Amino acid sequence: MKIVEPSATLLYSTPLSLITHAGRHSYQSHDKASEESDARLLAHFAKNDESPLEHSFAMFDVTCSYACHVHFLRHRHLSESWLSQRYTAGMGFVVPEALKANGYVYDSYNFGEQDYERQRRGGAKKQDARYVLPQGVAVRGSISGNARAFLNMLALRTSKKAMPETQHVALLMRTELGKVWPELFGEVSV
Ligand SMILES: Cc1cc2nc3c(=O)[nH]c(=O)nc-3n(C[C@H](O)[C@H](O)[C@H](O)COP(=O)(O)OP(=O)(O)OC[C@H]3O[C@@H](n4cnc5c(N)ncnc54)[C@H](O)[C@@H]3O)c2cc1C
Repeated sequence: MKIVEPSATLLYSTPLSLITHAGRHSYQSHDKASEESDARLLAHFAKNDESPLEHSFAMFDVTCSYACHVHFLRHRHLSESWLSQRYTAGMGFVVPEALKANGYVYDSYNFGEQDYERQRRGGAKKQDARYVLPQGVAVRGSISGNARAFLNMLALRTSKKAMPETQHVALLMRTELGKVWPELFGEVSV
């Protein structure tokens, strides 16, 4: 049985200057562009008028449990592509922090994996055999979208109310976005 750690890797992000370029049309202030003025303008957009943030784009590769990935899927302004358990076999399991100390979770995952294999040997298609897999089964996919959509999603999913694994993956994303878009996402680290 393979255990995998949740992760989020930033694959691509556009320069924030695209946002300031677009946003400066309101003021016809392209000739005033400078590092300092751009940073002020971005802070203004983040607080007062988020629509220019839609000119940006970022894309992540994410690995997490099945239970966690459904949370990201709820955010309608982000685009997502995930592995299909109809066509691919499992790629391991994510163990939630709270269950790491007890051994039962590993037994449960073993049973689930063995049941899955038994179904497959018995002739079941992957799309049917997947029904016996636990929600801790790992999935991998891409999540992309603009800074406005990420700000909205990350505010909800980094909250203490979110499920711990979802919070962790969201914090990983916010940390990466904070490196490339510090004016919008600050410099957080997990
Ligand atoms: C801690 C937590 C617990 C949760 N628990 C549950 C649960 O028990 N059960 C459950 O089903 N879900 C649950 N959810 C999911 C939640 O209900 C939302 O589906 C999810 O957070 C996506 O948020 P959203 O719909 O605001 O935004 P998104 O889909 O990300 O959209 C962003 C914003 O765009 C606007 N928008 C998008 N679509 C529309 C629309 N059709 N009409 C009008 N405005 C729109 C809204 O302003 C929205 O806030 C939970 C979420 C969190 C963070």
